Amino acid sequence: MNDLASVTSRADAVALDAADPLLTLRDELLIPEGIVYLDGNSLGPLPRRTPGRVREVLEREWGQELIAAWNTCGWMDLPSRVGDAIGRLVGAAPGQTVVADSTSVNLFKALAGAVRLRPGRRVVLSERGGFPTDLYIAQGLAGLLEDEVELRTVAPEALADALDDDTAVLLLTHVSYLTGRMHDLAALTDAAHAHGALTVWDLAHSAGVVPVELDAWGADLAVGCGYKYLHGGPGAPAFLYVAHALQGSFRNPLSGWMGHAEPFAFAPDYRPAAGVGRALCGTPPVLALAALECGVDLVERAGVAHLRAKSAALGELFIRLVDRFAEAHGLDLASPRDSERRGGQVSYRHPEGYAVIRALAERGVVADFRTPDVARFGFAPLGVRFVDAWDAAEDLREVLENGEWERPELARRHRVT
Ligand SMILES: *Cc1c(COP(=O)(O)O)cnc(C)c1O
Repeated sequence: MNDLASVTSRADAVALDAADPLLTLRDELLIPEGIVYLDGNSLGPLPRRTPGRVREVLEREWGQELIAAWNTCGWMDLPSRVGDAIGRLVGAAPGQTVVADSTSVNLFKALAGAVRLRPGRRVVLSERGGFPTDLYIAQGLAGLLEDEVELRTVAPEALADALDDDTAVLLLTHVSYLTGRMHDLAALTDAAHAHGALTVWDLAHSAGVVPVELDAWGADLAVGCGYKYLHGGPGAPAFLYVAHALQGSFRNPLSGWMGHAEPFAFAPDYRPAAGVGRALCGTPPVLALAALECGVDLVERAGVAHLRAKSAALGELFIRLVDRFAEAHGLDLASPRDSERRGGQVSYRHPEGYAVIRALAERGVVADFRTPDVARFGFAPLGVRFVDAWDAAEDLREVLENGEWERPELARRHRVT
């Protein structure tokens, strides 16, 4: 959007909303009155359709059809049906994406499968400051393989140079949870391939908010999260992508019966399903999948290109507004200023970032904090209006100018920040 520079009043922001084609879809989310919700990058708001759909699965499908529903209500198809829908959001043709388990568990499956496809290579390469679960899972796998492989982390800008012929897998989060910085997925995938390494991409902060073209960019394996920009609800199942070219050789280390070629043959020996179904492990979480499907459907109706344009514009407006007072109050932009290199969030460092976020919450502006000093403002575009960005910036200014964050109880951390 090119008229952001002309936004100098709240009324200007309201006018931008009036011209926003995505605004009507915001009504399909439940966002409590009086709340400016800038945490959709952590937990996407509830689609209004979800409770009715989940109730239908409970009362009509489970309640009335009982066990027959596995066949009559398409329950068994859910992992691949919702997987293919997510695939459409991340540039994956059908038959390569399934929904199952958590992102962490899918990381384990993807990484272990990838390491096995590169025998003799020792290194899983990742970046310092990557999302902890990615690193923990790699450490756990290295331990299990009795240090046949090791995790090596380097600074993000040193990744391309750190690739070599001992690299089995490049494991990276596309959009940083901390700063929103976005990697060039295509270029790093090419660089990994040039050294014969495979890639595992974590799309937790990408799916549903920034364009991703897994097939076109040559990605090998990818995982991502259902409860952030996909509005699947707390603890929603995650997704796992295995490129067609790898499906015949990919071996799922969690060789449960749902990934078997014929689960109901009850054969004594594991034989993997032919396609991406081999990435499954146990019985699909039907209720959670039904909820996730509602969220994914909403994102698909909005269209990733529109969502991306709006999210970038919201972030740009917020940065522009906060620029006016940031320096005077010790706020330091931690995200790339260039929206081309930034995902859906804008992060600032502040020595008392946690207390600032708590003080904002008291004003009805919900953002979050990541240790040690990062305040994150998520511009999940389905639920956020331009006027929300305006109001959040104004509230932030007042919190800082009035020293509202200085009350000692605001510095005491909750269990979940
Ligand atoms: C949110 C997030 C996860 C979540 O993992 P879970 O296993 O679902 O808890 C994983 N990776 C990244 C980069 C995330 O941002």
